[in-house]
Amino acid sequence: MKSNRVYRIALFDGDGIGPEIMAPTRSILDMVAERIGRKLEFDSLPAGARHYAETGESLPASSIAAARDADAILLSAMGLPNIRKKDGTEITPQIDLRFALGLYAGVRPVKLYAGQPTPLADPRVFETDFVLIRESTEGLFAHMHEGQVVDNSYATETLRITRATSEKLFDFAFRLAQRRAVKRGIPGRVTCVDKANVFRSFWFFRSIFEERAKAFPDIAADSAYVDAFAMWMVQKPWEFDVVVTENMFGDILSDLGAGIMGSLGLAPSADIGDENAVFQPCHGSAPDIAGKGIANPLAMFLSASLMLDWLAGEHDDAALGEGAAIIDDAVSAVIREGTILTGDLGGTANTKQMSDAVMSRVAA
Ligand code: NAD
Repeated sequence: MKSNRVYRIALFDGDGIGPEIMAPTRSILDMVAERIGRKLEFDSLPAGARHYAETGESLPASSIAAARDADAILLSAMGLPNIRKKDGTEITPQIDLRFALGLYAGVRPVKLYAGQPTPLADPRVFETDFVLIRESTEGLFAHMHEGQVVDNSYATETLRITRATSEKLFDFAFRLAQRRAVKRGIPGRVTCVDKANVFRSFWFFRSIFEERAKAFPDIAADSAYVDAFAMWMVQKPWEFDVVVTENMFGDILSDLGAGIMGSLGLAPSADIGDENAVFQPCHGSAPDIAGKGIANPLAMFLSASLMLDWLAGEHDDAALGEGAAIIDDAVSAVIREGTILTGDLGGTANTKQMSDAVMSRVAA
C-alpha cells in the first residue's frame, strides 16, 4: 500500500478534446473526495502529440517515473493525426505506458444506461453490464514489431501466451467477478474467450484458465470460442459478467462492446498491472470537434470512477468505492433524465452543460 488517506494521482491531459474533458473530471474528483473525506493530490505530467511536436519526446522518462510512483494514473486521449514520427506512424504514449508499467489486464466495461441510444432493439439490452478483460502485453501483440514478409511471398507473426501472465490475468478476472458479485448481489461468472478448438496456444490459455478456476469455487467458470462469442455479444450481451481474452481478440471485441453501447463517449477503460494502473476513456482526441467545447465528458468521468473503485480495492478503503458509486449514479441519472445530452447521445448540450449536470448530482 503506497499511501493511507491521501492519494496521489498522475494526470496526463492529452491532446485535442483531452484537456477539455479532463478539467471537469478533476473538479468532479475534488467534489467526490470532499464528500467521502479523502484527499486527492494531482500531478499533471507532460506527454502526447503536442509535447512531441515541441520537444521531440512523446512520453518523457521523467513522466513515466512520476506515473510509476503515483497511486493511480488518469489519462485523457492522446495523439493527433497530423503529428507523426519520421516513419509515418503516430505517437502512442498510452500504449507505451502499458508496456513500461506491465499493465497486462485491459479492463473494458460494456454497460448500457437506461435512456441512452443503442443500435440493438431488444429491450433486455439495457440489462447489459459486463466487463471485458483484454490481456494487454502479449498474445499477437507480443512481437508486434517483429513480423516478417519473406520474399514477398508470405508473412508471419508470432502469438505468445505465457503461463505467468495468464495466471495473473485469470486471477484478476476471478477476483473482479467476486467483487462484482458482492456489489450486484448476484452470483459471479467468468467466461474465457479463445480459439482452443484450432490453436494449441489457445488450448494452453484455456487449460490455465481451468486450473485457476478451481481456486475460485464461488465463481462460475465457462469458456467460449471467439467467433460464437462475437455473435452472442450482439444477440444476448446481458448474459455475461466478466469475460477474459487474448490481446488481439480483446482489441476487436472491445470495439464491438463500444458499438453496442452506442457511443464511444460512454466507454471508459483501465489498464492494470501488479503495481500500477492507467484509467482513460476508450475514445481518441477527436480532433474534428476539439476546441468547440462539445465533447461528451462522460467516458472520462466513468474512467475516474473506475480509478476510485480500483484504489478502493488496492487500499482496502471502502470510502473510495462510495466515491466511485457517486459518479456512476450521477452519470446514470443524467442519461436517464435525457434532457442534457451531448450530440453523440442525440442531444444538443455542450461539454460544460453536461459536466454541470453531473456535478450538480455529485454535490447533492
Ligand atoms: P476518436 O475516438 O478521436 O474519434 C472518432 C469519432 O468519435 C470522431 O468523430 C469524434 O468526434 C467522436 N468522438 C470521440 N470521442 C468523443 C467524445 N468524447 N464526445 C463526442 N464525440 C467523440 O478516433 P480517431 O479520430 O480515429 O483518432 C483521433 C486521434 O486520437 C488520433 O491521433 C488517434 O491516434 C488518437 N487516439 C488516441 C487514443 C487514446 O489516447 N487512447 C485512442 C484512439 C485514438
